[in-house]
Amino acid sequence: MSTTDTNSLWPQDQHNLELLSQVHPPDYVNPTPQGRYNLVVIGGGTAGLVTAVGASTLGAEVALIEKNLLGGDCLNVGCVPSKALLRSARAAHQIKRAKEFGLNVPSYDVDFSSVMERVRKLRALISPVDGVKSLTEKGVDVYLGTGKFVDSSTIEVGDRKLTFARAVIATGSRPTLPNIPGIEEIEPLTNETLFNLTELPKRLAIIGAGPVGAEMAQAFARLGSVVTIFDTQNRFLPNEDRDASNIVKTSLQQDGVTFSLGVKNLRFSRNGNEKIVSYDANGQTISSPFDQILIAAGRTPNVEHMNLDKVHVEVNSDGIKVNSQLRTTNPHIFACGDVCSKFKYTHAADALARIVIGNSLFFSTAKASDLNIPWAIYTDPELAHVGVYSDSEEGKEYQTIRLDLEHVDRAILERSTRRLHQNLTRPPWPNQRRDNRRLSRRRTNRRNRRSHEPQREPEQTRLGHPSLPHAIRDNKKVRRSLSPHSANSCHSQTSIEIP
Ligand SMILES: Cc1cc2nc3c(=O)[nH]c(=O)nc-3n(C[C@H](O)[C@H](O)[C@H](O)COP(=O)(O)OP(=O)(O)OC[C@H]3O[C@@H](n4cnc5c(N)ncnc54)[C@H](O)[C@@H]3O)c2cc1C
Repeated sequence: MSTTDTNSLWPQDQHNLELLSQVHPPDYVNPTPQGRYNLVVIGGGTAGLVTAVGASTLGAEVALIEKNLLGGDCLNVGCVPSKALLRSARAAHQIKRAKEFGLNVPSYDVDFSSVMERVRKLRALISPVDGVKSLTEKGVDVYLGTGKFVDSSTIEVGDRKLTFARAVIATGSRPTLPNIPGIEEIEPLTNETLFNLTELPKRLAIIGAGPVGAEMAQAFARLGSVVTIFDTQNRFLPNEDRDASNIVKTSLQQDGVTFSLGVKNLRFSRNGNEKIVSYDANGQTISSPFDQILIAAGRTPNVEHMNLDKVHVEVNSDGIKVNSQLRTTNPHIFACGDVCSKFKYTHAADALARIVIGNSLFFSTAKASDLNIPWAIYTDPELAHVGVYSDSEEGKEYQTIRLDLEHVDRAILERSTRRLHQNLTRPPWPNQRRDNRRLSRRRTNRRNRRSHEPQREPEQTRLGHPSLPHAIRDNKKVRRSLSPHSANSCHSQTSIEIP
């Protein structure tokens, strides 16, 4: 069960009370439904909010059901608080490096409780956009409570029964709690409780070497925790290009983060206030004590307690089973966001929601499979990716263009030359040229329909000097691969922070 409920927000200070008053007002009374809705959405995170507001703006009668906090993970326990925390960590890091820039900062202290107060304050400041008032002003009927299907045209929430022509499941995901012996003894933190901390853990263990583990490891290390990342897999950021993830790993090591990857027989125990992480290595048991343990070991889609079997909505390993038009196995019910997608990002939830609006209410046949979804990890340096990986498309030939930034003026001035920018392009073999030309025409037409801006060759693009994108503009090979005439041959791009 999700702990992102109204009672799990801590501390109950003015900022959290302000947040609650927006995203789950304690005195809110659900409306009484007036007839059948065109669309009922279960889940008020990014996917649900975008669907509900978009559909209502287009004139549909829409209801949105949220059981905990409107805004979902992104606002309350995901993107917003994590990026606010990273910002303070970056400031601390810059002060630490002050001497390098000719500045004497004799000493500085991290006031962790003020850092976290800033996180709560900014989260509350952003919250009205996702709040009840803003939604009702946009014509959405908001119901606070758990939504459950009664049959293929009715959903109940508390004592209200909402009838619908179409429904959308946007119930998101929750942190996966891995089956590690002793986990019940150590009261681990997850992203749902991490941002309640008011005291810096002196020693922090992070279980999981993925994006959330990486971002939080760097944030806490820069704020003064001694951080260790544990993972049973032996790769850091295993879903990223190896060269890029190694650069981020080195940066984290420079911040003092240590790594125990590929560990065997991971287990937890407790010794008074200390939480112990143990594993086996070379026939020995290694044990280390920590003040807090954060579990960042992936996400589990929220598919339970909705009576999905009653309405013949099937689930698979990604969550709700959908076709490429995001229709579930019940033709009247759609899904979008973390609950059905392997791209668990806010911008992906937003893009899928926009597809659902058209496909559920109008006669659109847009496909999620047509999207090319990029993502970013907000460590320093940041890591961004779009498209295929060099090692993921066996049997296909690609040309990899890699640019290290050590000769780019701006990177040298910023002292950030360790960054790389990598393009993976498919060479224009003769039999591909025709396909490429066709694809290119299609894309250019689509682009032109969307925008009347002239398409610029990369070398025509005006860049301020010095700037990191010069690395792309000044490199002939990359220019060729990015030129609009062969834009379709650019299949992938990994970049490490180009601000
Ligand atoms: C620490 C962290 C940092 C992140 N940072 C980023 C980032 O920087 N950039 C990025 O793009 N993505 C980031 N993400 C991912 C992003 O938060 C999610 O992809 C996004 O929130 C998914 O939106 P969603 O609407 O699908 O689901 P959610 O945000 O999970 O919303 C689902 C909502 O449904 C509600 N619900 C569930 N069941 C029911 C029910 N039966 N009845 C009523 N309501 C129900 C839940 O309470 C929840 O509010 C981060 C995630 C984490 C954990």
